Amino acid sequence: MATGKINVSVDNIFPLIKKFLYSDHEIFLRELISNATDATLKLKHLAAIGEAKVEYGNPLIEVKVDKKGKKLHVIDQGLGMTEEEVKKYINEVAFSGAEEFINKYEDSAKDAGIIGHFGLGFYSAFMVADKVEIITKSYKDEPAIHWSCDGSPKFTIKKSKKEERGTEIILHIAEDSTEFLAESRITELLRKYNKFMPVPIKFGMKTETLPKPEGAKEEEPAPTKEVDNIINNPNPAWTKQPADLKDEDYKGFYREMYPMQFEEPLFHIHLNVDYPFNLTGILYFPKLTNDLNIQKDRIQLYQNQVFVTDNVEGIVPEFLTMLRGVIDSPDIPLNVSRSYLQADGAVKKISSYISRKVADKLNSLFKNNREDFEKKWNDIKIVIEYGMLSEDKFFEKADKFALYPTVDGSFFTFEELQEKIKPTQTDKDEKLVILYASDKETQHSYIEAAKAKGYEVLLMDSPIIGHLMQKLETSKEKISFARVDADHIDKLIQKEDTQISKLSDEEKETLKSELEKVIGEKSSYTVQLEAMESSASPFIITEPEFMRRMKEMQQTGGGGGMFGMGNMPEMYNLIVNTNHELVGEILNTKTAKKKERLINQSLDLAKLSKGLLKGAELTEFIKRSYDMVK
Ligand code: ADP
Ligand code: MG
Repeated sequence: MATGKINVSVDNIFPLIKKFLYSDHEIFLRELISNATDATLKLKHLAAIGEAKVEYGNPLIEVKVDKKGKKLHVIDQGLGMTEEEVKKYINEVAFSGAEEFINKYEDSAKDAGIIGHFGLGFYSAFMVADKVEIITKSYKDEPAIHWSCDGSPKFTIKKSKKEERGTEIILHIAEDSTEFLAESRITELLRKYNKFMPVPIKFGMKTETLPKPEGAKEEEPAPTKEVDNIINNPNPAWTKQPADLKDEDYKGFYREMYPMQFEEPLFHIHLNVDYPFNLTGILYFPKLTNDLNIQKDRIQLYQNQVFVTDNVEGIVPEFLTMLRGVIDSPDIPLNVSRSYLQADGAVKKISSYISRKVADKLNSLFKNNREDFEKKWNDIKIVIEYGMLSEDKFFEKADKFALYPTVDGSFFTFEELQEKIKPTQTDKDEKLVILYASDKETQHSYIEAAKAKGYEVLLMDSPIIGHLMQKLETSKEKISFARVDADHIDKLIQKEDTQISKLSDEEKETLKSELEKVIGEKSSYTVQLEAMESSASPFIITEPEFMRRMKEMQQTGGGGGMFGMGNMPEMYNLIVNTNHELVGEILNTKTAKKKERLINQSLDLAKLSKGLLKGAELTEFIKRSYDMVK
């Protein structure tokens, strides 16, 4: 058997790089600045461990556009390269010097924050340039080198006169890429990818206004000074220790990230782990509207302070993608497809870590300042409810602090709620019936009726609450939710009420058949007689809870396909209070016409109070009512 090594010829690699290396040509600048940053941080590290005997100082990276010469320069004051190093690191495509550096200085360099990985970043310059030059002087006592390559695999290498330590990369921008000679485009790219990189980046100069000297005249303009225009903030808040930051710092960083957001975030979560993976970041809870689609400013993903993407799908749990902020991790494999990413073990751990941290933070906010937590509830509930629905582990934690507001503005945890309603809202099967309203306005009369009975009515108005109720019903024992206008409520009333009907069985028979006659066989109302207090409404319309939920699901596209049928049938109960005076009157009215009118008018009033009276029926009702009052 023979073994061998396949020799990949690089003759045709440049067209390939140009076309396929990165789909986004603009990232070449990110790569060059990453290399310049690496070179600077490597020097810092070597100086710190005493291997480089140099004055580190306050090095900058400078980007310059030469429009006339059609050139773009990236200049650093980092460790530079010797001739041997240029040959090794630049000429051998895909031989990554960053990786070698980390391997060599394994332990001490781990925290140096080196960005490079794949050994292809430098060549991305050929996506936009048809000639690239490197002029570099190593920190070692060796002559400076001038390397030049016009995109064919041939290159030239010669000595240079460069005196200062560091590297200058010169791109001769290609005809099809002249956009990268526009200052505005470069500024845009620097802001997008390099805004928080660890070494200061200079792009041009700017005018700074100085304070007026003492005794200066009113009309005298304040003196100005030309200073370096530094694009980035090399020390963003997330790289600092939480103990070193005040609330104001977090808010300031939020404004820095989202200058277009005028509203302050509700609170933040500082992420900071180094085992079993590295991750830092700050997540902010913004005030969220109920409209889940409005979500412009997203969480940004960084690797060692280099912006990578604002698509964090798969890395941040889905329910938290509504938050804002940054996460920074060198451990997220980004050169792989999204579907692979979701299956990656490390990424899964990151996702569940984030979810856990958020739950812990919410729990401590709830515990430490419940009043404040209640105030914020409406703005954060959507995230929490969504999380409870989508992640069982989050559900377990959130179950202790998720709040259930009542229509009167009290807040209960689920446990508190159960305790509170146990004595009054248990049905015949010992099931707790939790009453809720989804709209205080349209369900007003039902809410009032339930409150009059001493029931607690929750206000559940977020868009996904229906699904959460279903989840609670299946995961908790013996509870069910019923909207105030659902049929469950009369089951409770029945049990509660020991009211005796004023009507005899015979009278009830007659009443029922007469009502059914007027309302008509084809109608969607089932008549039910019930003995309530005389002060309760004479006619009340309720709807089976399950029916209404089905309809709601159909509207939101949930149930329609499931049954493969058209609209759900209308189905209502007409509860008639046999103890109400009006009902007695209906029974005792002799003339059929008058009886019919009383029944129709009462039914219409009940429909009106449930919001069911519409169109021609409503017009007819209003006309009839005018006739009656005149
Ligand atoms: P990577 O950054 O992944 O190692 P690159 O293709 O971006 O791969 O760079 C290859 C190597 O070239 C780097 O690892 C580094 O050793 C060297 N290099 C590139 N740019 C510079 C620079 N500005 N200063 C010093 N060395 C550099
Ligand atoms: Mg690189």
